[in-house]
Amino acid sequence: MSRIVTYSSAYTVVPTYECFNHCSYCNFRSDQGKSSWLSLSEAEKQLLSLNNQGIIEALILSGEVHPKSKYRQAWFQLIHSLCRLALSLGFLPHTNVGLLSKSEMKELKQVNVSMGLMLEQITPKLLRTVHRNAPSKIPDLRLQQLEWAGELRIPFTTGLLLGIGETVNDWTETLEAIANIHQKWGHIQEVILQPYSPGRQQELNGGGFEMNLLPEVVAIASNILPSDITLQIPPNLVTQPEILLACLETGARDLGGIGPLDEVNPNYPHLHYQALVKVLESRGWQLIKRLPVYSEYDDWLPENLKDIVSKWRMRLLMSK
Ligand code: SF4
Repeated sequence: MSRIVTYSSAYTVVPTYECFNHCSYCNFRSDQGKSSWLSLSEAEKQLLSLNNQGIIEALILSGEVHPKSKYRQAWFQLIHSLCRLALSLGFLPHTNVGLLSKSEMKELKQVNVSMGLMLEQITPKLLRTVHRNAPSKIPDLRLQQLEWAGELRIPFTTGLLLGIGETVNDWTETLEAIANIHQKWGHIQEVILQPYSPGRQQELNGGGFEMNLLPEVVAIASNILPSDITLQIPPNLVTQPEILLACLETGARDLGGIGPLDEVNPNYPHLHYQALVKVLESRGWQLIKRLPVYSEYDDWLPENLKDIVSKWRMRLLMSK
């Protein structure tokens, strides 16, 4: 059995924390007008400051502006411009900004090597609880995004959010839905199994996901998902090394983006990189850097992106 675990060295760029949804567990959002939008010059400053830190991926992560808002076009243009800026500075953009129209997805494909949207859970019962004020979390709308991504041949990352009031049966149904869509289009490169952990701002009652159960979820996902989908767990949320290692034994093979700061869960710092390597090596696992697009999908990319990706592949090869 291969003992390789991958990660992406990523820096998160946040166009805005503003979001019209109110997911009751959210540690990220702010109300409209409460957080200024990122300017291109500030973004450039941030990206230039990463010189020599080995960062490859620019993860564009944003709160959502309502599709009918008069600010929607400006929001979308900002995201598009940030992707172009990141590309011009040699980074590989991966955008995850919530629900998009099909034409918005099509435009972003031209400036992203991959994109993402968490499916979270497809059970509609969460619309009466944690998602009662989050219209973007209607399961059918999110499934539609996954379909469009497949139709548009966009290498895609999705995942489950765990511990928000779902049952074991709900995990299975959500995983089966992902497997079915992937069987049709073959575009899901990875599935994140993200345990919800309470932060400072959340309103959700309860203690979040019972971390001891994570290896079991990984095992269930390994059984349901096709083997060409990589299972990802976020290492910063697995504060107990034994659980992280157990997740690897049951099928997880990727640790997602590792970078200077986790924007979604700022209260849960990453294990220091060297400490992480030590934990992994103690059981014979080797940690390897990857690109935000898996090599099977390089042919799907627009020509200008193929060039920059192949240069990065060469650099990674030479650095081994
Ligand atoms: S979880 Fe995402 S969609 Fe929900 S409120 Fe937070 S930023 Fe908005």
